[in-house]
Amino acid sequence: MPRPSTPLNARQLSQKWGVDAAHVLYHHKGAWYHVLRRFPAALFDPQGYVRFETEEQYLSAPQLKRRKHLHVTGGIRSLPGYQWGQAPAAPLAVDLNPPKRTSSTVYRILRDTDLARRMKAKCGYACQLCGFKLTLPDGTPYIEAHHVHPLGAPHDGPDIEENILCVCPNHHAALDYGTLRLEVTGSSLGQRFIDYHNRHVFGQKTRRRGVRVPKSEEKELST
Ligand SMILES: [Zn+2]
Repeated sequence: MPRPSTPLNARQLSQKWGVDAAHVLYHHKGAWYHVLRRFPAALFDPQGYVRFETEEQYLSAPQLKRRKHLHVTGGIRSLPGYQWGQAPAAPLAVDLNPPKRTSSTVYRILRDTDLARRMKAKCGYACQLCGFKLTLPDGTPYIEAHHVHPLGAPHDGPDIEENILCVCPNHHAALDYGTLRLEVTGSSLGQRFIDYHNRHVFGQKTRRRGVRVPKSEEKELST
């Protein structure tokens, strides 16, 4: 017997992931829902959601079997418009081949802030500079959140939406190394942060920023 959807969970998730919808429903397997009646509408599972802007869009989705209840063949995750609400925990990124092993190890810990996770979902896990989408072997999408005005000293940029750009690992390195002048349009990036990058990061002869993190006080990566 399928479990009924729980609107409370759906509402909580839609708030958490910033999904704008008039009717939201949740199912733990993404496979069985009440029928959607008000639009825009969204169906949620624990990891993500699919949103229907209009009733026509909803009615024309072939994977949805609308009878007394709504059955989704293969679960909503198999639908083309499925959005991951939560990025997978970012793996540890290490300089694989440092030029020389010295007494200090420079490494980066990619740890997402809530905001960075939301931004990744918002950009659809696609690089905002080249559109590249990287999918890990287990099917989860991978993208990096770059703070255009870097967070760490001496830059001390803010962790706010207008300062975050979602980029593929290649473009992340290119930005960190100051090899790319930023010309971005159509993103939520603030012009003052783009200007900061172009003035103070682009073209600067600095080693890629690494954060030496003592085990006892791991902290947010300054990227
Ligand atoms: Zn890219």
